[in-house]
Amino acid sequence: MRTSEIAKRYLDYFKAHDHMVVPSASLISPNPTTLFTIAGMVPFIPYLMGEQTAPHPRMASNQKCVRTLDIDEVGKTTRHGTFFQMLGNFSFGDYFKEEAIHYAYELLTSPQSKGGYGFDPEKLWMTTFTDDEEARSMWKNEGVDPEHIQIMGMEDNFWTTGGPGPGGPCSEIYVDRGPEFGVEGGPIADENRYIEIWDLVFENYEVDNVKSKTDLHIVGELENKNIDTGAGLERLAYLMQGKNNIYETDEVYPVIEAAEKLSGRKYGEDAAADVKFRVVADHVRSALMIMSDGVRPSNNGRGYVLRRLLRRTVQAMRVLGVNDPVLPTLFPTSKTAMEATYPELNKTFHEVSESAYGEEDAFRRTLENGIAILDVAVNKAKKSGSESVSGEDAFTLHDTYGFPIELTLEMAADQGVKVDENKFRELMAEQKSRARADALKKRHNVDLSVYDDFKKTLAKPIDFLGYTDYSSRSK
Ligand code: ATP
Repeated sequence: MRTSEIAKRYLDYFKAHDHMVVPSASLISPNPTTLFTIAGMVPFIPYLMGEQTAPHPRMASNQKCVRTLDIDEVGKTTRHGTFFQMLGNFSFGDYFKEEAIHYAYELLTSPQSKGGYGFDPEKLWMTTFTDDEEARSMWKNEGVDPEHIQIMGMEDNFWTTGGPGPGGPCSEIYVDRGPEFGVEGGPIADENRYIEIWDLVFENYEVDNVKSKTDLHIVGELENKNIDTGAGLERLAYLMQGKNNIYETDEVYPVIEAAEKLSGRKYGEDAAADVKFRVVADHVRSALMIMSDGVRPSNNGRGYVLRRLLRRTVQAMRVLGVNDPVLPTLFPTSKTAMEATYPELNKTFHEVSESAYGEEDAFRRTLENGIAILDVAVNKAKKSGSESVSGEDAFTLHDTYGFPIELTLEMAADQGVKVDENKFRELMAEQKSRARADALKKRHNVDLSVYDDFKKTLAKPIDFLGYTDYSSRSK
């Protein structure tokens, strides 16, 4: 089943259960404390917090998300993307735990011929919060094997906003990929064999004094209890399509195929190269989606995240042996794979792709200038037996060749060495204080006589001619 069909079935199911289905909000988070929309619930926060009344007490969406926190996992685990889509159903003071559990179980286990996902109940596992006996008995009522219901503590299965406000236990749903993928014993034993697909949050408490997840105070029960759920579309797709990971699903894999053609190498033959193929596929799609929501490469905030995604793509392709421009092939491939769900990508694609290609050109120039210096530094490190590029070399690469430290770190790691980051930061700090001292010196040495003359003229009374001039001009 194609990814777009899996999303459609989710939204159709919840629409049939009286949910108002709304389109995805932008990836640019409306919340000033986060750069990107990181979860399906983000656009619904005012309703969940009771600050605004929702247009309908039950809603559902397929929300575009970006999580940069997961960037180091990309390509290495089977299940983490920087961009992914989160399906979600929400209840604002309407249905609660029993219905949320029932809806999730019914959609997951109903046969595909009847509009469901057709998961084998034997492969489903649930985790529940320590104190949440209620959720455990509800899962059992649905027919879940009691041995497949595990218990997790506050750290994993209790949700808060991080501050005072709503909070509550969660219950997560996992799919067992089978004994060839890890050890027995449910998600508690192995999160790579048992893949988390859906998180149900039951917001029934008001909490305050949230020092940490495990140190908070439950004030009492909320008057309006909410349901907030999030199901990873790519994770559902990877399991339902019988693939090995999210990068091999229909909306992502075409980029791997295009990268194979560009590099003349085959995906699936070398573990280290495969990680690069998957990084490329993930990052190209993230960059495309972020740019289509209006972000452009820059040196800070969202623009910098985007810049890093584009640069990491180019760098990963170089490791795969491609030195020529890659984005003019990979960007249109990703757009074609995504346009069934996001036809609006076509509206801005010309401008978006030109900007991405320009960024690639600029980065390739940076690389051309610095790459030989980096290679020398890496060889020096290897020869000296220190296994770290010196802080001095990393500083020169930054200062003279425009290599951001993240790039030096990543490129050094590609060649199996580290970087002396402490020394690098020390040199950066020294450079900053030198620059500050220089600025001060200039301030003191500067010839201020010109200002003295200016001050003298200002000391004379000034006749304000504005009104008269204005009235004479307007006649
Ligand atoms: P994990 O522990 O596996 O990283 P999570 O606990 O961070 O997941 P939630 O924040 O509960 O995940 O998000 C809800 C759902 O969104 C998850 O059950 C999963 O299916 C999906 N999801 C979360 N992060 C990612 C990601 N980086 N890439 C793809 N899907 C994701």
